[in-house]
Amino acid sequence: MSQIQNPTPLAAPDQVKVTAVTHWTDKLFSFQTDRPPSFRFQSGEFAMIGLADNDGKVVTRAYSIASPHWDDHLEFYSIIVPDGPLTARLRHIQIGDDIILRPKTTGTLNLARLRDGKRLYLLATGTGFAPFASLIRDPKTYERFEKVILVHGCRTITELGYSQKIVADSRAHPLIGEMVTAQLHYVPSVTRENFTQTGRITKLLADGKLVSTLVLPPLDADYDRIMICGSIGLNQDIAAQLLAKNFQEGNLSSPGDYVIERAFVGNGI
Ligand SMILES: Cc1cc2nc3c(=O)[nH]c(=O)nc-3n(C[C@H](O)[C@H](O)[C@H](O)COP(=O)(O)OP(=O)(O)OC[C@H]3O[C@@H](n4cnc5c(N)ncnc54)[C@H](O)[C@@H]3O)c2cc1C
Repeated sequence: MSQIQNPTPLAAPDQVKVTAVTHWTDKLFSFQTDRPPSFRFQSGEFAMIGLADNDGKVVTRAYSIASPHWDDHLEFYSIIVPDGPLTARLRHIQIGDDIILRPKTTGTLNLARLRDGKRLYLLATGTGFAPFASLIRDPKTYERFEKVILVHGCRTITELGYSQKIVADSRAHPLIGEMVTAQLHYVPSVTRENFTQTGRITKLLADGKLVSTLVLPPLDADYDRIMICGSIGLNQDIAAQLLAKNFQEGNLSSPGDYVIERAFVGNGI
């Protein structure tokens, strides 16, 4: 019988260590973890993450992976729901803590679900920006599309802090900075304060203000591709606008003109 001498202690299955935490507002924070060498994902996908309580009961929730697929750490961007089963505790994580990360990743915000086109619109509200934080740092996004238009809608300017930082860092990044600077158009918009751009994404799209501000042609299913990540209401409103313009929803067997992911599951849905 063979015996292993001095085995290296293995990390508990499905656990990763928190390596950084940043609080952006009293309701929003981001955090990084180490990345298991076998953990693979495609830009735009989500995974299940969670915490175990003192009795060992595990609560997991879907989280979009905000970091790029080529990075050696993982990053997540989180809401704080004061009495939420996960985030009421997740908000207190600190460097060195363990969190649960399930290895399976999936999602519809996948470049493979879109037909080729000229311009890619990424439309997000709130934490719906998270999957796009990964996609805007994927060189494939810029190989597939000449222009990438990222619209991030929030209520207040401070809620834009995370996306502003990710975009600024991406523009300065040695690997992707040139592509991002040349091809990414970032349109932050707020609904409750004065700002360079104000108004809901649905309205900016419906009244043509978004494309006219960027001096782009009106949305056209022959050239434009869209990814949407917001509340169920936002997703439905934008999908209705797109269907009226003959855009087709894409899937893996039949790539289309737009894809949708819910940023969260609303109360009672
Ligand atoms: C595909 C998918 C991807 C997701 N990715 C993220 C992500 O990257 N970051 C993230 O913070 N959350 C994300 N969520 C939501 C996440 O799964 C949890 O709902 C959230 O972390 C709150 O967990 P909780 O247990 O504290 O409260 P829950 O019981 O899950 O939620 C309580 C209530 O809070 C509200 N809520 C939950 N999440 C949000 C949110 N993100 N924004 C606004 N209101 C919300 C809803 O009304 C919900 O009914 C995602 C959800 C889905 C379906």
